Amino acid sequence: MIAIPGLSGRIPENALQPVDCGFCGGAEQRLKFEDGPFRVVTCATCGLTYVTPRLTDAKLIEEVYDEGYWSSDAAKVRGYTDYRQDRPLYLRTYRRRMRVVRRHFPKAGRVLDVGCAAGYFLRVMQEEGWDVTGLEPSDAIRPQAEELLGAQNVKAGLLGQVDLAPGSFDLITMWDVIEHIPDPVAAVREVGKLLAPGGRFLIETQNVDSRAARLLGKRWQHYKHAEHIYHFNPKTLAAVLAKADFHVLENTPRLGGKYVSMGFLAERAGRLHPVLSTLLSPLRLVSKAAVYVNLFDEMIVVAAPNERAASVD
Ligand SMILES: [Zn+2]
Repeated sequence: MIAIPGLSGRIPENALQPVDCGFCGGAEQRLKFEDGPFRVVTCATCGLTYVTPRLTDAKLIEEVYDEGYWSSDAAKVRGYTDYRQDRPLYLRTYRRRMRVVRRHFPKAGRVLDVGCAAGYFLRVMQEEGWDVTGLEPSDAIRPQAEELLGAQNVKAGLLGQVDLAPGSFDLITMWDVIEHIPDPVAAVREVGKLLAPGGRFLIETQNVDSRAARLLGKRWQHYKHAEHIYHFNPKTLAAVLAKADFHVLENTPRLGGKYVSMGFLAERAGRLHPVLSTLLSPLRLVSKAAVYVNLFDEMIVVAAPNERAASVD
């Protein structure tokens, strides 16, 4: 039996399965670093960074996203400190990120948010007049979204499992989601089916080639091996989109920042060095104060489906 950092129980050793590259199938890997039972590797064929071995059993994957994920006592290695209590910070963050939506949509339309969690992004979209649908597989957090957005606007499950009309959305979004999905190309293909003509796909995910990632090495905050099974860079993310018949319109680290509490800053500093956490612990006293932090280590990518060539027969 082994313990996964942040997961309460111990799991059988064979629950972790070695995997090959989830993009090109390549087995040849270059090791970035090892951490407990996990290896973070880069595919020698296509350059995608991924975690192996990983949980492949659906039941165990569900355990990763149980209640403890959303109010984690070990958010440095797993999940969120308190996703619900931080609601004002998330709403403020998404209001700021609306700038990227407005660049592509002068007026409101129909949006699907895949992995909508407590529904914060969609709440902001509702304020802007959008017709919203959220998809959320986690039973632990979905009731929050139902309460915030209206139960009829939230569906349980994963992309491809839920009955949604083809061509019925102008915008589909994935905020901090694609790095969790075992088959990202299949997920993007599902997105392609659901988009209306002229539709856009917005992805936010961490950039493993960002300056912060390089500087921090294995201490980079996005290395959470049970949940972040992929780490893209602009090239590998564009390759996933291209394979699923999309092209990138823009890729920017701007607006990838977040409003965070001072208490959060003190906690994350502790990941860099325990002494920093002690030094910054007075910040916890003003932990309700918010500050906007952008390490430029996230990518916000807007993509569009490729035009289909007119049929000749
Ligand atoms: Zn590969």
